[in-house]
Amino acid sequence: MFGLYELNEVNTVNEKAWLDVAITRCPNCGRHYADASWYIIEMSSDIECGNCHTNFNTKKHVSNRIMLGLKIDDEGRVEATEVAEHL
Ligand SMILES: [Zn+2]
Repeated sequence: MFGLYELNEVNTVNEKAWLDVAITRCPNCGRHYADASWYIIEMSSDIECGNCHTNFNTKKHVSNRIMLGLKIDDEGRVEATEVAEHL
């Protein structure tokens, strides 16, 4: 029984997907937003804050960038998430 548990653990570790996420912060009200990093870094677009309606450039206001690890089950559905790395 313990051996079966170990086998499942190995399978779970292998089934992972990754998402590079950038956290941006509104310079006016401080509200945080999460978006895919490619969108923030490469598009470097302006967005309107949903809270205070200030327009700001997302790339200039990145407060954190992380690699998000998503554990995927046998059916391809997300089981759990974790912060794999701070970039
Ligand atoms: Zn704001």
